[in-house]
Amino acid sequence: MTDSPARQTVAPSTISGRVPRRGTLLYQVLSEDLMALSRLAREFAAEISYHDWSDAPFRLDRAGHQRDNDGINATPEQLTPEQTEFVRTNVMWIAAQVLGHADPNFDVFEFAEWCGVDTRTRSGRPRSGHIPAGLRFDDNTTMSRPGDPEAWDEDPTPAAPAPVDNRPAQVGTPAQRARKWPMDPNTPGFVTARSRNVHRTTECVKYQHSVNVARQRGRTVHPPVWTTTGAARANEKGICSHCWS
Ligand SMILES: [Zn+2]
Repeated sequence: MTDSPARQTVAPSTISGRVPRRGTLLYQVLSEDLMALSRLAREFAAEISYHDWSDAPFRLDRAGHQRDNDGINATPEQLTPEQTEFVRTNVMWIAAQVLGHADPNFDVFEFAEWCGVDTRTRSGRPRSGHIPAGLRFDDNTTMSRPGDPEAWDEDPTPAAPAPVDNRPAQVGTPAQRARKWPMDPNTPGFVTARSRNVHRTTECVKYQHSVNVARQRGRTVHPPVWTTTGAARANEKGICSHCWS
């Protein structure tokens, strides 16, 4: 696929010498690769790319807002170009977390480029590491479930799963259940009626956070039930990454 017309028509200087403009694709050369994105991802990216983020904090503007069309109604305040790109990039990461969690083939670089985010390093090299660094992973390949991890760890009524998430009903996520367990299955730990993970101590910051979230939301705070890591594992609990890191 390296000699496709799309690649041949774009000179390398087009990539390295071009000043990125708002909402433009930086790597037209990769158009065939971009098609690897799902339709949903492309449509999210199209919205993020098209939107004018430069006055986003100052007005409740509809999706696809363009400041150029505001005329005398344009807000007096406007973000700097760098601030504008920070907003765009943060929005891109949020959408990417959801899309990447739902789709194991999701490519954040392709998605970012469709969003109009410059994915190059400061020195102009492609595929800057800061792009994937904005995503959260359970392990090297599995992107974390969107949202506050401790809130959903204990959430008795989780939101409906993503359309492509065909995992069976279970307590821990695959990544949580695959974490390294203590050698001795009789290692003490505790679970709660609704927890996804077994913890070693109630001092655990993740456990404490989940309790705080439950209280804030008026949910039942289930008491710790002491058990062993082996029994918790047999009950499909995951292992707390904080307690056993
Ligand atoms: Zn813990």
